[in-house]
Order: sequence, then structure tokens, then C-alpha cells
Amino acid sequence: MTVLGIESTAHTCSIGIVDEGAKVLALAGDMYKPPKGGIHPREAANHHVEMLPVLLERALAEAHVSPKEIDGIAFAQGPGLGPCLRAGATVARALSLAWDRPLLPVNHCVSHIEIARVLSGLDDPMLLYASGGNTQVIAYGRGRYRVLGETIDVGIGNFLDKLWIALGGTFPGGPQLEAEARKGSSLYPLPYSVHGMDVAFSGLLTASLALANQGVARADLAFSVETTAYAMLTEITERALAHRQMKHVVLGGGVACNERLRSMVRAMVEERGGTMFAPPRNLCVDNGAMIAWTGELARRSGLAVPISASAVDPRQRTDKVRAPWRDQGAGALPGVN
Ligand code: AMP
Ligand code: MG
Repeated sequence: MTVLGIESTAHTCSIGIVDEGAKVLALAGDMYKPPKGGIHPREAANHHVEMLPVLLERALAEAHVSPKEIDGIAFAQGPGLGPCLRAGATVARALSLAWDRPLLPVNHCVSHIEIARVLSGLDDPMLLYASGGNTQVIAYGRGRYRVLGETIDVGIGNFLDKLWIALGGTFPGGPQLEAEARKGSSLYPLPYSVHGMDVAFSGLLTASLALANQGVARADLAFSVETTAYAMLTEITERALAHRQMKHVVLGGGVACNERLRSMVRAMVEERGGTMFAPPRNLCVDNGAMIAWTGELARRSGLAVPISASAVDPRQRTDKVRAPWRDQGAGALPGVN
């Protein structure tokens, strides 16, 4: 079995091809970079429309497969930016029709946990999903993935990008802030907004900009921002582990590329006797291979849809979709349906 997956929820458009053992046969992607400021959904979608045919040829060549050897077409149905999602879904529908193959809608957040789960070999890990637009702590319970905690304002990556751009930098801010933070050492106090298993970043943004205006060195500011924001994420992940009596954590999303975040979460998890796993960077960020792999799981569970039922869902919640491929017993959450 070989499944092709299309990712196009935000900046990245990507096509991946995987086999039934989750071996990545091909992965071709391209990122829309706004000339300045944040992402414009229509412009990003135009970029994806132009790039997807190129990426398709590249992926098929890299995988050494012909269309005849593809057994399913998966695409990210949501959550994401409407115009970007529609660009990917349109290509997926066209391929499904042209090649007469099942069409497999996939939830983007679920695909981050499924690729990390299969790569790590951990049967029932908690996912800390830290990306541009999403920040969630997710675990499986009774047929679905449940959001145990999340940001109540912006995603962690959007916060880092906004801060960096306000300081005069360019998108994406996260990696540049990471490089800056490595040179810093003084920890300035910043708002630490943890509310149960949820977090918020807007107060942190305002306070960080105020520190910058007071002339705090950029490296120390970056160090303080990373320390505070990643401690918040580590704390809510630990609380979710404790409540669910779980041990293992996998990471996903662009911000999960961050070494500081990885080491803080790893220290917490190992102290609790568990294992922390972060996929290689090309499978941590948005990518078509995770969509393809989750599409394969969906195919096995009979979740293919006709074109008439393949509308994108920009606000699709992680717990809106079923995950019947998960053992009903594993990670079941008593009392939750
Ligand atoms: P995604 O939304 O998953 O495509 O990831 C994009 C986000 O990840 C952007 O907000 C980036 O700034 C952020 N990002 C990428 N690499 C890093 C890093 N090393 N440290 C922190 N943030 C990062
Ligand atoms: Mg993502």
C-alpha cells in the first residue's frame, strides 16, 4: 500500500508518499514567505496552487512510483487557513478522480501525533503540539484524540514571530530568536500565564516589548522569553501527564524544532520515568508525509469519503474527528465520550 498526502494548512505546502509501514518514500515541500509582516491567506494559497503540481512531479520521481501504484489520496481537511486548505483539497480531489483512488480527509493536528507515534514506537504518548497557529496538549481517549490543554489566545509560534517582527526582524522569528537566546544569560521576569492546563501569550508579548523599549539587550530578552514561554508549555504538559497517569511525550509542530523546548520537556519527562521523542525536523514541521501516513490509517478504517463530503473545515477541532484505528482500550479516558 502506498498513500500520497497533501499538506497545505498554512505557510507550507508539501506532498509526501509513504508505504504501509510508514516508510517515507518521498517528501517534497515549499514554504510561502511573506515579503514583510505576517501571512496573507490568499497569497499563501496562490503560492500553493503554483507549487503543488511541481511538488507532485518531484514526489512521484523521488518515490519511484507511478500514479498506478498509489492506493489513496490524503489531504489536510483542517484546521487551517481556508484558501490554503482549499488549494490542497482541490488537488487531492482532482487526483482522486483522475487516478480513481479513495479520497482520505485527515485532521492536521492528529497527523502530527500519528507520525510521531509510529516513528517513536510509543503506543500511547501525549503530544505537545507547538506550532505557528496551534498550541495544544493532546492525548487519545475513547475513539478520539482529546485536547487536554491549549492556548487561549495565539499559538506559541505566532507569538514568537510577532515579537521578532516587532523587534525589526523577519518571518519566521522562532529560529532567529532561538539563535539570539543562546547568547543571552540574564533572566528578566515576564508574565507566566498558565491557567490549569491552558496557556496565554498576549501578556508575555506586551511585557516583552516593554522590556525591549527599556533597552534590555536583545539576547537577554530572547533568553527570558524562551525560558518563560517554554516553561509554561512544559508545565501544562506535565500536569496533563499527571492527570492522565501517562509517562511518554512526543513533540510536533515547528516550535518543537527548538532545542531549548526539547531539553526542558525531556528533563521533565525523564524525571517522571518516561521517554520524550521529537521527530526529525522535516517531519516535525508541517509535511505531506504525516498526512499520507494518517491517510493510510484512515483508509484501513474505511474513512474514505466521496468528493461531495470532502469540504475543508478551517476550524476543525482535534476532537471532532474519530480515530478508530486506535485500540479502543489504549489510553481510554474513563467517563469521557
Ligand atoms: P508550523 O506552524 O508547524 O509550520 O511551524 C512554524 C512556526 O514554527 C513558526 O512560528 C516558526 O517561527 C516556528 N519555529 C520554527 N523553528 C523554530 C525554532 N527553532 N524555535 C522556535 N520556533 C520555531
Ligand atoms: Mg502543524
